[in-house]
This record gives sequence, structure tokens and C-alpha cells, in this order.
Amino acid sequence: MKITHLTFWPVTMPLKEPYTIAYETIIKTTNVFLKIETDHGVTGSGCAAPDKEVTGETPEGVLKILNDTVYPALKGSDPLRISFLLERLLKHLALYPSALAAVDMALHDILGKTAGLPLWKLLGGFRDRIKTSVTIGILPLKETVKKARYLADQGFRSIKIKGGVDVASDIARITAVRESVGKDIELRFDANQGFTPEEAIRFVKETKMVRLELIEQPTPKGKPDLLGRVTSHVAIPVMADESLMTLRDAFRLARRDTVDMVNVKLMKVGGISTALQINAVARAAGLEVMVGCMDEAALGIAAGLHCALARPNIIYADLDGHLDLLQDPTDGAVRLKAGFLFPSSKPGLGFELKAP
Ligand code: MG
Repeated sequence: MKITHLTFWPVTMPLKEPYTIAYETIIKTTNVFLKIETDHGVTGSGCAAPDKEVTGETPEGVLKILNDTVYPALKGSDPLRISFLLERLLKHLALYPSALAAVDMALHDILGKTAGLPLWKLLGGFRDRIKTSVTIGILPLKETVKKARYLADQGFRSIKIKGGVDVASDIARITAVRESVGKDIELRFDANQGFTPEEAIRFVKETKMVRLELIEQPTPKGKPDLLGRVTSHVAIPVMADESLMTLRDAFRLARRDTVDMVNVKLMKVGGISTALQINAVARAAGLEVMVGCMDEAALGIAAGLHCALARPNIIYADLDGHLDLLQDPTDGAVRLKAGFLFPSSKPGLGFELKAP
């Protein structure tokens, strides 16, 4: 089998409502979609969710690297030699993790379709569904509570609340949410690097009655020692997100016992292949893994889901980015039921992407 053609194009999707985290407010997002065609009629689909702050990329940069570097490297190659192709691209795409993720996804899609198997089964097939959390951005207290109740009524069993701008108001919001939604909903908190270690420790102590499931990236990403200080002082699991961008980061975090958990997003680590390598490091170190996401189309969420379903120590999913988007050309690539995500039963990623 040989790769004959690559098509890639950007799609800007408005968000259903604006969304605020510790360092920005988002109203729309642009993903770059990729379709790889072969001489056997099998095609593979992928998508990139570039984000200046997290992946360090722009949509223009992703389109350019796909055109100038990826296309010439892949054309005429055997798409089933995934490791060979990705290894060859890796040195050129080190600064383009979401572009690499799109390529990795599309190649895995071709692999699954060629094998006639849904990707999650091909990769290990540990579970057939996973509970996902849904995220509430930074909102005033009343609106946070209203939104949490709405999500609980929709059937979600796990809610992630963003904060990290003001510790006192974060404590008040999360406490009010717990009182409102009752004890059965899991609550997670993501500070997006906004706290000092002292603020994070105070936050956890003063929300003890809330029984938070975990706190995500409380302190700035470049300073693993600060994360480590929080981890050694609080009783709930501390998770690294922005501090984990590469396989090497995973090893460093694991070796120094800096955190209890890691949030692996395909877009920041460069796709399924690296995500599974990171997962192996995490498993060796006894760290639990969550597969998370960016503001990405359902196709990207599907890839994250197939990855999450494959392995036993990926016990959490935060795969809700697609739920906020309007005009997603891959709407329907995953199925949501009572707070659980299910993959399509079709081979590969299970979605046929139409090029424009
Ligand atoms: Mg996060």
C-alpha cells in the first residue's frame, strides 16, 4: 500500500459560549483537518488543534509544515510503517505536536481500517467505554453553580471546574457547587498554573469537605519543584498537565516523584504513539493517567478515546472539547450517553471525513 495524496484544510468553529481559564478567554477555535489517501482506496483522517499557549502552534504554521514537510515525506510511502514514518517526521515536527498528532491519527486510522478493527481493540482493548468529565470555565459563583446543576441534570457524573485566578473565590465556588450537586458527582479542579504552592495547599485544605477528586496543574509549568511541593503537602492527587509536553517530561516527573497523575493530550504530545509511550512510563512509575483534550473536533476526541480505552491504567478521561463546538465537520465521531463516551464500532477511528 502506498500513500498517494494528502489533503489538509482549516476549519474555524465558534464555541457555543465563551469560555475563560486562568490565562485567557476563548470564543472560537481553528482545527486543521487532514486526509491521507492510498492506492488501495483506504483513507485515514486526522485533525490538529493548534494552540499558541499550549502546543505553541498556529493554524497557519500547521498548514505550512503539512505542506512543506509532511506531504513530501509521506507521499509514496507505506502508511502501515507508522513508527518508521513518525520517527522520520519527529525531528522536523518537534515544535508542531498537534500537526504530528494529526498525521499519527490518520496513519492509525488507516491501520485500523486495514485490519478491519476499531482502533481501541487493535491497541489493547481494555475497556469499551469511559466516563468523561465536563469542564466549567471561570465564571461568577452563581453561574458556576447553575452550570454545574445543568450538567449534572444532563447526566454527567464528573465535573471539572477551572480556577487559579483567585484562591478565595475558587474555594467559595467549589464549595457552593458541592452543596448544590450533592455528594455523588465527582468534582475535579484545574488551576491552569495559576497558584503559588502556598495558595494551592490552602485551596486543598479549605476544600477538604468538598472531597475533590484531584487538583490539576496548580503551579507554573516550568517549575516541577513547585508541583512537587504541593504534592507532598496535600492529601488529594496532584496532576500535571502543562508540565507534561513530551515523553522526556513524563520520565522527569516520574523519576522525581513530582506528581500523582498526568494529563496526556494527544495534541500536546504528538499523537497516539507518544501517548502510549508516556502511558508506559506512567505505569512503570505507578502514576495514574487521564486522557485530556484541547478545543478539538469530535475526530480528535475519538482518537483520544480510542487511546484511553486501550490501556488499564488510563482511568480518567476529560474528553469534552467537542461538546462546546458549533459547526464541527466531524460531529458524531463519538457517542455520549449518561456521562460515558463510546467509540464508533466501525474500523479505525470510525469516522469518514469528507474533504471540502
Ligand atoms: Mg488542564
